[in-house]
Amino acid sequence: MSDKTFIVWFRNDLRICDHPALFKAVQVGAKIIPIFIYDAGSMGEWDYGAAQKYWLHHSLIALKKDLPNLVLRRGNTMVNLLEIAKKYGAQSIYTLRNYEPWAADLERDLNEICNDEGIEFKRFAGNLLIEPEKLKNKSGNDFQIYTPFFKAVFASDLVRKPIGAPPAFETVEGIEGDNIDDWGFLPKKPDWSGGFTGDIGEKAAHKRLEDFLPRIENYSNGRDIPSQNSTSFLAPHLRFGEISPAQIWAKIHEICPNPIDNYYKFLAEIGWREFSYHLLSRHPKMPYRPLKSQFENFPWEHDETSFKSWQKGQTGYPIVDAGMRQLWQTGYMHNRVRMIVASFLVKHLMIPWQEGAKWFWDCLLDGDLANNSAGWQWVAGCGSDAAPYFRIFNPIMQGQKFDASGEYVRKWVPELAKLPNEYIHFPKDAPIEVLKSAGVVLGRNYPLPMIDHKFARDRALEGLKEVSAQN
Ligand SMILES: Cc1cc2nc3c(=O)[nH]c(=O)nc-3n(C[C@H](O)[C@H](O)[C@H](O)COP(=O)(O)OP(=O)(O)OC[C@H]3O[C@@H](n4cnc5c(N)ncnc54)[C@H](O)[C@@H]3O)c2cc1C
Repeated sequence: MSDKTFIVWFRNDLRICDHPALFKAVQVGAKIIPIFIYDAGSMGEWDYGAAQKYWLHHSLIALKKDLPNLVLRRGNTMVNLLEIAKKYGAQSIYTLRNYEPWAADLERDLNEICNDEGIEFKRFAGNLLIEPEKLKNKSGNDFQIYTPFFKAVFASDLVRKPIGAPPAFETVEGIEGDNIDDWGFLPKKPDWSGGFTGDIGEKAAHKRLEDFLPRIENYSNGRDIPSQNSTSFLAPHLRFGEISPAQIWAKIHEICPNPIDNYYKFLAEIGWREFSYHLLSRHPKMPYRPLKSQFENFPWEHDETSFKSWQKGQTGYPIVDAGMRQLWQTGYMHNRVRMIVASFLVKHLMIPWQEGAKWFWDCLLDGDLANNSAGWQWVAGCGSDAAPYFRIFNPIMQGQKFDASGEYVRKWVPELAKLPNEYIHFPKDAPIEVLKSAGVVLGRNYPLPMIDHKFARDRALEGLKEVSAQN
């Protein structure tokens, strides 16, 4: 029997397959101490949002089924890891690299302490396709623009190849840990998770990918229609690393060796995730500071009442309200609608994008620091390769274009369900008798638009133009 004992520290990588840290530790013949530590102190303001906690709870239960000796601890990471390493004689701590700024700081500090203590600390790549430092443009600089970035990823032979499950291995038994039920990750009073659906964990993630593959043929056309089931819903599985992007990349290449059309489009979205992570690793302040610094001077409004109307889906713009209610009830919102509601908050209401990002962080099951910050900065126009400042989504026309039958709005804003298609995206235009026969009383059972679209557009354009002209 081997005399080696290694700690494998799990974080945003709650899987057994394609886990290079676990694989390498097993390969050297070590006995494994698998551990997950909930360290709210180190996470600070990026502690998991409430919906993420729900997902994490179930994801850890799923991982523990495959790894019954998985140790769950709460508290300071370094204290816990060092205590266990010393008590059980672990020579090494292996983990997958994590790109959230607080986590990168923790890795650096841990590396130093482990050096002093004579413990090997090793990080492995496993959560991205290519490590951020490895991908440069032809001039040797970091990519700032998504399209050339993705072309380079797509053509690169640096994309990580997934590895399988490690061979059978032994884990250390009897290490004291917490019971996940004591972490209070599930909502109780009230339990708002009734609308959350879908299985969680590594097996569920692969099943989700398999279920999506027959639908991929409709991806390019369908992915913008929120009433359709056209996207993969892989986001929360990716956020917690139940599946790796390398596994998805390899699977798509397996069924379509030279990905084109829908296959290419789908990989290109995985590419947006990659781009966001590369940005975050270079700009640790991206979650709260605009990448284009002149946006610091934008004349934001801090209007609590308007913000609440937006959060509750009571803006009087049906597509916005449908999205915000879908988010609240299911922990998910369709990508097209994320863009519409974010644009409405930032450009119509001129409320800082950081406030919207925080609400998403709390409500999204897939709340992901890189994707969320990059998504909000893109919409606000202050990110790298962001939407141009003059792109201000018209929520009525967006509804008419992407929810032409009104199916999405009718599902999430049932008080408007009986309105004819012609008025479903702007009930204010409906004649009084149409409203009456649909049972809609504006200002009573559905709000009047909280702001006039033209007024909001002109006001935002003025502020944005000024800011964009600054260097
Ligand atoms: C304002 C805003 C906030 C967002 N916040 C998040 C977030 O917190 N977490 C998150 O995972 N995504 C976020 N996104 C991106 C996107 O909306 C979701 O990834 C997508 O809707 C998830 O659904 P899906 O898995 O069915 O996507 P699919 O269309 O099936 O895409 C497959 C995968 O590609 C990645 N992806 C797709 N679109 C994007 C994108 N625009 N940016 C980055 N990655 C993308 C995701 O990992 C996704 O799971 C945000 C977008 C916006 C506009």
